[in-house]
Amino acid sequence: MSKILETYRQRTPGSAAAHHRAVKSVVGGNSRGSAYWNPYPLMIERASGTRLIDIDGNEYIDLLNNYTSLAHGHAYPPIVEAVTRQVELGTAWVGNNRWQNELAETLIERVASVESIRFANSGTEAGMLALTIARVVTGRDKVLMARFGYHGSLMEFEVGSFPDLFTHGADNTYLGNYNDAGSFEEILRAHGEEIAAVFLEPVMGAGGVVRAAPEFLKRVQAAAKAGGALFVLDEVIAFRLATGGAQSLLGIDPDLTMFGKVIGGGFPVGAVGGRLEYLKVFDPKAPRALHSGTFNANPVTMTAGLVSVRELTSARIERMDELATRLADSLTAAAGKLSLPLSINRAGSLLNLFFTKQAPQATPVREDAATIALFHLAAMNHGLMPAGRGMIVLSTVMDDALIDEIAQRAAAAMADVA
Ligand code: PLP
Repeated sequence: MSKILETYRQRTPGSAAAHHRAVKSVVGGNSRGSAYWNPYPLMIERASGTRLIDIDGNEYIDLLNNYTSLAHGHAYPPIVEAVTRQVELGTAWVGNNRWQNELAETLIERVASVESIRFANSGTEAGMLALTIARVVTGRDKVLMARFGYHGSLMEFEVGSFPDLFTHGADNTYLGNYNDAGSFEEILRAHGEEIAAVFLEPVMGAGGVVRAAPEFLKRVQAAAKAGGALFVLDEVIAFRLATGGAQSLLGIDPDLTMFGKVIGGGFPVGAVGGRLEYLKVFDPKAPRALHSGTFNANPVTMTAGLVSVRELTSARIERMDELATRLADSLTAAAGKLSLPLSINRAGSLLNLFFTKQAPQATPVREDAATIALFHLAAMNHGLMPAGRGMIVLSTVMDDALIDEIAQRAAAAMADVA
């Protein structure tokens, strides 16, 4: 550890100082659990395209794209242009804006199960709103989700994401096992009358880029329907995998869909969409629940989101798939040369590395915890910024040459680890 850690510290004194200052005023030094790592996170000064620059002037190829929210990299010129225009025209007001209509219409056109939609400011809020709808519609309280699934930082979901760490929401949440339809069916059979909604990701993001088998989702959806619960598909990450969302690839027709990340074009966003009869819960003419929010559907986010979604075409999604395959193949070859065990989960432009012979199924409790932490620091030492948990997220502004550069740098980082 010491050599890699020592190099990290030597290269990043400005980040260390900034972190020590931050902890005095912000608990833990930051406001985002998934953006903290030991010994301290980097202080980023600016970002452009595929690059991040830290306070010490080090450059990194960004392999995270803000945990999937940037489909087109940083400061994508068409988004900068749209947002700059909008900022000059005003950033938020009471009253509608044209971009909300256009983004809503675009999403409805693209995603077959979505008849209507409402916007918020985070994927967490999207989950909260989906849960509110389900509770009002069913008159029930509880949630069924996958163990190690992630639907945002709401108490009801936290206990599923980190069952060994956060137990305070446990009374409201049942947990099934991802890709094990029987476990969900059993819970719905035994407790169906208490369960308002079943939440599932089509690809587990935080859980390690684990793909759902289509049959698993279909069986769970059928069991939810039979039990009178709503079926909510969380496409906050997975929407980037196809123009119609992952549901179009999997043949799933959820009652409600959660959106976030790429539909905001780099700005804070969330949305819940689905069948009109359910969304009607929030119709202000006859509301059955409250949905308000000072910044909901603000014109800056909406105009950025519209550009982001429109420019996320099938051709570009396919191109990212090709680049991801190229990267996975190169990383596998590099690890092979070093006799380092490496397995990679992949779904389209998303990858997750595991330094084990076989990728684990949906578990954050991993055998390679020490190795992946080392690799994370070593990767930064070699000018790459993946997630601490080994997630890699591509963008539409990457090309073959960049992928090859990433593979070379990653190979050097793996050599340090080996
Ligand atoms: N759902 C999934 C699948 C996510 O990955 C995330 C965030 O990573 C969320 C919900 C929560 O979104 P946000 O971080 O915008 O609150």
